[in-house]
Amino acid sequence: MKTIYLASGNAHKLHELQTALDLAGLPLRVAGPDEIGGMPEVEETGSTFETNALLKAHGLKVDGPKEGWFLADDSGIEIDALDGRPGVISARYAGLECDDEKNNDKVLEEMKDVLEPHRTCRFRCVLALVGEGLEETFSGACEGKLLFERQGTGGFGYDPLFLPDESESTFAKISLDEKAKISHRARALTKLINWIRN
Ligand code: IMP
Repeated sequence: MKTIYLASGNAHKLHELQTALDLAGLPLRVAGPDEIGGMPEVEETGSTFETNALLKAHGLKVDGPKEGWFLADDSGIEIDALDGRPGVISARYAGLECDDEKNNDKVLEEMKDVLEPHRTCRFRCVLALVGEGLEETFSGACEGKLLFERQGTGGFGYDPLFLPDESESTFAKISLDEKAKISHRARALTKLINWIRN
């Protein structure tokens, strides 16, 4: 059975991918970087989600088995009124010592004078799959509006500020099942699964 090595040590992400592949009836085993010596340090120097996801996937491939597949993701939020920021630096928008709270505070401050119709934004996720002679990317997006204040306590990152067009509640208020139907990550994953199937 072919193995997909995921460039993440997050057990939840590994389980999520294995479940999606199993549900799709695809005979693939998901493994973490630990099986091949750990995740190497990869500097995310790209200016796009595609480039950074590819950098991570290729970084993992270096010490991996020839016949393996290597998968990495990169994601973030793009706010139109901020010319697409935070974008690829979503995780560290408020600086090196930042956390989700500080990142959200910074975005709220920068957006405080932007009126509702101009508060459009989207989460984006790109999955990069590489192997011997293989390099593919799959991208997913979820459109929405950036609120003026936090709503909800669930989720992570910018979830409390993001109201998806397809829901009445923020990502921090909806269930994981509901998020999995419309999220950027779920959409990229569906494209990956369809590609593997065909
Ligand atoms: P990455 O780990 O480099 O892909 O950075 C992703 C960052 O984008 C996270 O740290 C969050 O700040 C943000 N982000 C990505 N996806 C989501 C999401 O589904 N909800 C909230 N924030 C997200």
